[in-house]
Amino acid sequence: MRRVYMDNAATTSLAPEVLEQMMPYLTNIYGNPSSVHSFGREAKAGVDKARQQLAKALNAELDEIIFTGCGTESDNTVLLGVAERYKSKGNHIITTNIEHHAILHTCEYLEKHGCEVTYLPVDENGMVTAEQVKNAIRDNTVLVSVMFANNEVGTIMPIAEIGKVCKEKGVFFHTDAVQAVGHVPIDVKAMNIDMLSLSAHKFHGPKGVGALYVRRGIRLPSHIMGGAQERGRRAGTENTAGIVGLGAAIELACSNMEENARRMTALRNRLMEGIEREIPYVKLNGHRTERLPNNVNYSIKFIEGESILLMLDMNGIAASSGSACTSGSLDPSHVLLALGLPHEIAHGSVRLTLGDDTTEEDVDYVIDVLKKTAERLRAMSPLYKGQINK
Ligand SMILES: *Cc1c(COP(=O)(O)O)cnc(C)c1O
Repeated sequence: MRRVYMDNAATTSLAPEVLEQMMPYLTNIYGNPSSVHSFGREAKAGVDKARQQLAKALNAELDEIIFTGCGTESDNTVLLGVAERYKSKGNHIITTNIEHHAILHTCEYLEKHGCEVTYLPVDENGMVTAEQVKNAIRDNTVLVSVMFANNEVGTIMPIAEIGKVCKEKGVFFHTDAVQAVGHVPIDVKAMNIDMLSLSAHKFHGPKGVGALYVRRGIRLPSHIMGGAQERGRRAGTENTAGIVGLGAAIELACSNMEENARRMTALRNRLMEGIEREIPYVKLNGHRTERLPNNVNYSIKFIEGESILLMLDMNGIAASSGSACTSGSLDPSHVLLALGLPHEIAHGSVRLTLGDDTTEEDVDYVIDVLKKTAERLRAMSPLYKGQINK
């Protein structure tokens, strides 16, 4: 059976070129980067190179990059660190109601520990404006954290405009750019970004390694205490092979970002056009144009996202739905509800996210299977019969 992986927002495959660069660090180059002998120095050289690759990709300085264990850790480090270190500056944080749980759950924790959090509502496309951010800033605001691009519906936020507002108001600006890094151009200086989270496994790098950009002059305490790694900002022996993989993956993504984005956008549009042509009663979720090149998210009315996923899986297709992000939960995703979707329509959503390895044949296969899936499930749906007999 054909197998098609369209869940690249959850994680991506490891690019063969990236694995190749990691291999020596999983085998011969096993020294501890903190050791002063030649084994250690060899390992350190790999970490140093990755730091250069990442700094170049973001237009950051070398000492502004901290390697972490994942995107979640980067997000946690920013929120907890700013709240602790800059308490005297204020205890008010501004974010949005469609952030990843790495942000939202940390904000909820901080609310229990003396912080005030404003969750800006998004519009029906999943967008917040710089104006909204500006109006929410108060005297005691210390941090604005707005995601670069949403992981469920792919909407890209006006990051440069928000950065400008935060700079004018003297408020720290963090962006969770886990979905955007490697996919869209990012310049932390031009966009006035103070802190940025990213994760290698979302751009064809290895799992279990992330990074944090922290602008010079901002000091965040390390929440993992121990050694002096990462200039005392993140203790623990470096995941050398993972860090080398992160560096290789970001360099690869940036070396052909424009061409990749063009190819991906064409495939994404082919998928969107196919779905809208072949399946009646569908609704695109997220912004139609301000959208990640690899994200497609539709509500297919009158049927359940979970049933769609099961049938896609039986046909070898990996997708994801907004109805049960963590299996076992029957609540629709907080993102789709924040876009104003009624529960029954949020339940019928399916997310298809493309990767560097997605082909035109994959897209056409998915359109075909999705069309048949919708027809079969709707034939069993009393809601749908009611609709067409109206
Ligand atoms: C995947 C993701 C994360 C978490 O990254 P991990 O490396 O898996 O911890 C955080 N934010 C967004 C937007 C994501 O898509």
